[in-house]
Order: sequence, then C-alpha cells, then structure tokens
Amino acid sequence: MSPLVPISTAAEAALPSPVAGSSALIPFCEHSSGGEQEHREAFRPPFCPNPCCTLHHGPPEPDSLPEASRQREAESDPWYRDHGHYRTKVRGLVQRFRCRRCQRCFSTQSFSTSYYLKVELPLPLLYLCLVGGMSLRALSRTLGCTPASLSNRIGRLARQAITMHHALLSGTTLSEDLCADGFIDYTVSQYFPDATTLLVGARSHMVYAFDHCYLRRRGRMSEQQKRTRAQLEQRYRAPADGERDSLTRALAETLSVCWDRSRPLRLDTDEHPAYQRSVADLTLPLPELAEPARFTHRRTSSRRARTRENPLFPVNYLDRQIRLNLAAHRRETVCYGRNTVATLQRMMLLVCYHNYNKAQLIGDWARQPPVHAVAAGVPAERIKRWWRWFFSRRSFFTRAAATGFYKVRNSFGVTRLFRRSIR
Ligand SMILES: [Zn+2]
Repeated sequence: MSPLVPISTAAEAALPSPVAGSSALIPFCEHSSGGEQEHREAFRPPFCPNPCCTLHHGPPEPDSLPEASRQREAESDPWYRDHGHYRTKVRGLVQRFRCRRCQRCFSTQSFSTSYYLKVELPLPLLYLCLVGGMSLRALSRTLGCTPASLSNRIGRLARQAITMHHALLSGTTLSEDLCADGFIDYTVSQYFPDATTLLVGARSHMVYAFDHCYLRRRGRMSEQQKRTRAQLEQRYRAPADGERDSLTRALAETLSVCWDRSRPLRLDTDEHPAYQRSVADLTLPLPELAEPARFTHRRTSSRRARTRENPLFPVNYLDRQIRLNLAAHRRETVCYGRNTVATLQRMMLLVCYHNYNKAQLIGDWARQPPVHAVAAGVPAERIKRWWRWFFSRRSFFTRAAATGFYKVRNSFGVTRLFRRSIR
C-alpha cells in the first residue's frame, strides 16, 4: 500500500537507524521535526490538506483540471502555487502554498505533526517514556511542559498510531488463531468500570483490534455504595450487553479486513456467555462462522492457571503488560484515567508499540525474537518505513483507512477519534 504522506529519500536518510543488535524498529531520532527542517526547501506538497477539496485524496488528474490549469500542467506547472512565506520564532521561515482548485492556503507545517504548535517536544522520547510506565505528571516534569501540552501531543501520536495500524493491517492476511478477552479497569471513579476488549493473535501475540465498553459496577458493595450507585445510575447506566457488542465490533473489524476464509480459524475466549452471543451475532454478516470446518470457538475457564499452556495465555500476557506499561492501569494507583478518550489514546499508543516495536517473549537469549507484527506476517520493511515518518509527518485522519470504533463522523461532519461519551 502506498504511504499516505510520502517522505523524501533525503529526509529518510537523515533519520538514524534503530539500535544495532536490538529487535526494536523505532528510529531513535532526537527531535520530532529536525530532519524536516533541513529539507523544507525541497518540499513539494503531495495533496491538498483541505478535506473538502477534491484534491485532498490525491494529486489531480490532468483531465480534471480546467482548461487554463491544464495548459499550465502541460508546462509542468503543479496543481498548487507558492504563496510566500511567514516567519515564526520556533521554526524560522515557513513556506506557504495555495491550492489552485479550492484556493485555500497551506504551508509545509500543514504536513507536519507539529502543525499549529508553538512549543516543540521530543516526541520519540515522550512516546517511549509513556509506554515505559511514566505517569503524565512525571513526564511533564521531565520534559518541562504542562500536562495539557502532553495530552495534546499524545492525541496527535494516537492518530498517527491508528493510521499506521490500519495501513499495516489492511495488507496482512490472518495466518493464526485468535484469542479475545476484556481488560477490566475504571475511568473517573470505580462506579464507572469499563472493559477494553482485546483481540490478540494466538501465536504472534499481536493485537489485531481492541474495543471499549462501559460496565455496571459489580462485586461486593456496602449499603452506602449501593445507594451511591443507584443515584449515579439515574443519570447513566451502562448497557447490559456492552461486552457482547464490543467483541462483535472487534471481530468484525479484523475478520472483514484480513481473514483468509480458506484457512480454518479458532477463537479462544473464557466462559463468559457474552462472547458466545457475539459470535452468534456475527454469523449473519459472516456466515462462514457457522461452519464448524471453518470456524471453532473454544472456551476455557478463566480460573485455570495463567501459565503458557493456558489457551488464554496471549490475552493474559497482554493484561499483564498493560498493567506494567501504562501508569493509569496499575492496581491501586493515583494515576487512574480521568478521561475515557485520553485513556484509549494511550492504549492505542501501547498497542502500536507492542505490535510494531516490541520483540516477542524472550525465552532463549541467544535467539533474537522478531517483533510481534513481523511474527504475524507484516513485512519489517513496511513497519520501518512507517516509523521513519511517524513522529514528523502528519497522517491525515481524513485520508486514513480506519473505520468503526476508531473513526467516527459526528453530526457536525467532524471526524473524531473514538466514540466514547457518557450520555
Ligand atoms: Zn484544495
């Protein structure tokens, strides 16, 4: 699949390679847009950044241009024209352009992850610290910025991660069985527990999809806690079939993109009845799921020992890694999530890091295990290419292949990240 924003060979060469002798694929560049600054003069906009313009989804076909423009095109004059420049304290001179089709102006900054920003933060360092278990407050102290600036950069990186994940997944065929389970935590308060349904490859341990749903608070409660829950539920009560719908969406998303129907597929879950209903729901759009020769659903008790021999090991392992790597998901922490969308953004970043940079479980130190996604069949070269522009070149969400849970168009026509709100 062709890249959403092509990067010049010169800019690509400016980024250093990953650490030698390690399986990691993220290039350890020091600054988010340093390479870009040097090559700004050679920059040619690949498409119009205005989502309402017909040139937003690709360069113009010569026949589609008006007569006068066609004439200019014939004289190898591009679809945009230079429109002066402006000066900023952070980046110096910034080249501007004007689209001939929609007449909107844009600049080299429109194609950068730092568009509109007045403060540059080291995005690779921020990302690695975040997925290394640092809390937002600790990160803001380390980088010398406000938590609000961090949230802004995390939102930007999460959009990059969604685009990367979907682009890499869309060219991959599912060559392994799947394992699913819900990761239970809470946002805001323990009266609002939620489940993040993870769909993981049984062999590679790559996360193919995840989804989110709210749950009703359950378990042992005092009389006072029961009264508080009843009070809160007058305003919002989580749907009873949240986990069922959540797995249905995650499965539909993955199977519609990369399932090879000629290969038998097995899904491992625990004995929660919602998962059986999810599979039943999907037999209508995907009738192959009803054929035992093509699809089987194996259920294992969640009380079984959490060893490698357990069929649910891939999701148990992921649960452990999420608690380890994201500060907000640790047990008994003061860093718990305050905002569902922000929590999902960090989860997306962890999933992207886990899939495309982290090596599989190391059992034998003499052997260098591949990155999870490479074990699942995603070519390492494609992953490296994505990492090279991940921190510098903006992936336009309006051009991304992401669908469903990840990309929702609200009633105002604005594309938002994730569909989560407490009504
Ligand atoms: Zn335009």
